[in-house]
Amino acid sequence: MNAPFQDMPGRTEKPPLTVLIAAPRGFCAGVDRAIEIVERALERYGAPVYVRHEIVHNRFVVEGLKAKGAVFVEELDQVPDGVPVVFSAHGVPKSIPAEARDRGLDYLDATCPLVSKVHRQAERQLEAGRHIVFVGHKGHPEVIGTFGQVAEGAMTLVETVADVDALDFPAEQGLAYLTQTTLSVDDTAEIIGRLQARFPHIVGPRAEDICYATSNRQAAVKQIAPKSDLVLVIGAPNSSNSLRLVEVAERCGTTARLIQRAGDIVPAWLEGVGTVGLTAGASAPEALVREVVAKLAEWRDIDERLLASAEEHMVFKLPRQLVD
Ligand code: SF4
Repeated sequence: MNAPFQDMPGRTEKPPLTVLIAAPRGFCAGVDRAIEIVERALERYGAPVYVRHEIVHNRFVVEGLKAKGAVFVEELDQVPDGVPVVFSAHGVPKSIPAEARDRGLDYLDATCPLVSKVHRQAERQLEAGRHIVFVGHKGHPEVIGTFGQVAEGAMTLVETVADVDALDFPAEQGLAYLTQTTLSVDDTAEIIGRLQARFPHIVGPRAEDICYATSNRQAAVKQIAPKSDLVLVIGAPNSSNSLRLVEVAERCGTTARLIQRAGDIVPAWLEGVGTVGLTAGASAPEALVREVVAKLAEWRDIDERLLASAEEHMVFKLPRQLVD
């Protein structure tokens, strides 16, 4: 479907395409807050403001902040003395703010409050003398940050049901489980079910740690995927919640593609496709959704429909230093 159809001389017609747009999609309250922290820090302190790690997993967002004067670095030792530094929404090990304090750096913590909540749960479980089994993805910044809240060896990572089967704790070992905020709701339920079956005394949080934004976006994609021939998920390849949206759509039996921008769409994907489902991960801005719709409209006669499965009204407070 690279070119419009031409059915008679002088007249050009594009074939129709229904675009089913999921709601909720895109930015969550934690991402909104993290971006606002960097923007307000730039206003308050002036450029440059340093940011340790990508503030959120989205190149478009990062490039936009760079253009305003943010400087992204991997580690604190790349931050010069005397300039403010922001920690990303995924959270950081305790050693990072401690190092910033030692150096006398002004820092702003953009860790999502829902990630901080998991950090506090980890501390409480350790105080209660329990070893923690953490369900998450190895190497993800949020997992590194959460492991960095506790002493080495106090927490064990599991990624799959098979990992749970391989656990070997003494019968008298007190146990608790916690999870990353951006996991697949269905996979995590299975892993927790296996943990509870193997260790009936294991305790967990009152409500699961998968955040409202992750579960709402997965529920929304479950609504659009069965009605679509193809689902496009806007998100970065290192964005956990975006990758989960692709998996959820595929489990509904629909082909799903992760794209960063409209330019990633391969026209051949649309061959034989009458309905495209469209959603965006929690770190992807709405401007990219509009860009994708505009690109599809270059090729097809679009009928755009919104399929809403929940409303979101969550707003998180900014750090005290940025509130007048
Ligand atoms: S996806 Fe969830 S945990 Fe992550 S920043 Fe957004 S609200 Fe917070």
